[in-house]
Amino acid sequence: MLDCAMTSQGGKRASAEELDEARMREIVKFTARTFLTPYPAPFGALIVDTKTGRRLIRATNAVMRENDPSSHAELRAVRLASKKLRRTSLAGFTMYSTCEPCPMCMSNALWARLDRVVYGATIADANCHCLQIHIPAKEVAGRSDMKCEVEGPVLRELCDSLFRHPKMQKAFRTWSSGKPRRRPGSRKQGK
Ligand SMILES: [Zn+2]
Repeated sequence: MLDCAMTSQGGKRASAEELDEARMREIVKFTARTFLTPYPAPFGALIVDTKTGRRLIRATNAVMRENDPSSHAELRAVRLASKKLRRTSLAGFTMYSTCEPCPMCMSNALWARLDRVVYGATIADANCHCLQIHIPAKEVAGRSDMKCEVEGPVLRELCDSLFRHPKMQKAFRTWSSGKPRRRPGSRKQGK
């Protein structure tokens, strides 16, 4: 099972790296909850205040649930956050995603003016299980007029375990973007 124990507790001031990992663990745990629903998804996104770390919103991928190919976790998180704040700029906020944002979601993060995007598993990791568009999030950000720090992978193995969960492996077979099942024991690429 997933080990989602929080770190950085006990009164000591946590390093930036520890904070990133704690938040990634939080969104992994939240995302894993979808495995108990009819629509399991390995993609989850969390938006927090960059300075205070206060959580603004969490979202998971709802493509299957909403029959909407654009309902990626990061895109939904930005939509929900903007509606909650009643403004289009998320400057001052950071997004954590269990997987490197696709070009659609990274572009949306840039339009939303997010300060930072921190991701777990990579596009290559996700591509072992479902179809992907092979443009790194850092490249999308680097070719934009908007400034957004992109960091990752963070807790890559933990985030990748969402994709490898038996519930998820079964669900991928029903996804239009799913890939044929690999032979048992075959090694995945891209690690
Ligand atoms: Zn996406």
